[in-house]
Amino acid sequence: MLTRADIGVIGGSGFYSLLDDAEEVEVSTPYGPPSDTVTVGRIGSRAVAFIPRHGRDHRFPPHRIPYRANLWALRSLGVRQVLAPSAVGSLRAELGPGAIVVPDQLVDRTSGRVQTYYDMGGAVHVSFSDPYCPTGRAVAVEAARSGEWETLDGGTLVVIEGPRFSTRAESQWFQRNGWAIVGMTGFPEAVLARELALCYTSLSLVTDHDAGVEAGQGVTHDEVLEFFARNVTRMRTLVADAVQSLPHERTCSCGAALDGIKLPFELP
Ligand SMILES: [Zn+2]
Repeated sequence: MLTRADIGVIGGSGFYSLLDDAEEVEVSTPYGPPSDTVTVGRIGSRAVAFIPRHGRDHRFPPHRIPYRANLWALRSLGVRQVLAPSAVGSLRAELGPGAIVVPDQLVDRTSGRVQTYYDMGGAVHVSFSDPYCPTGRAVAVEAARSGEWETLDGGTLVVIEGPRFSTRAESQWFQRNGWAIVGMTGFPEAVLARELALCYTSLSLVTDHDAGVEAGQGVTHDEVLEFFARNVTRMRTLVADAVQSLPHERTCSCGAALDGIKLPFELP
């Protein structure tokens, strides 16, 4: 029975399962249980652990997701590289529903979320200037292009607190700053991954235009889920392709994120 994995996938809205032939693994963490039971299985020759970010029944809204437990659980199963598919809104008229964005930057507009593992026992300041794994990004872009997705390599993801969507004014402000996409879950997930020295790559599926980009009512949650449902098979293929192209040995600097830092506890 497979109980270890070196690649983790955290599935977003509408993405509740990945592995066809998988074992359920119980993982306990100092931060409580993850969003749902973790499943571990193989994609090709790679051992993969999967967590549905919102729970299989979508019970966790973005501000309630147990982000720390999810990343800790993955690391404790052996995971070192994380792929994070999610649904996002587009801030650019020319970037429409169905495009894949592999962002290279992030702006945090959340508030009140716990965003560190190191909140006692000494300060730990990780570098976060480049929040995403360069190797994972290159692999994701290549997989999306070979899957004939319209693909944007790079761009800034702005993460809002939610659960409400943006106002038109907020959305227009995001656009004027040149940011590409808006979502609700990319932070603190990315920084917690960095704090555990994991590689982290966002695969963002555009499901709609954000409120400031076009006239009309603005986005609704039902539209997001319906769009994702129509694309979920293709998304699973994309993630599976990316999984199989990730390197077996890491050569990026993500694994060195904690080098020289005295940690208040041992990582799993
Ligand atoms: Zn990396």
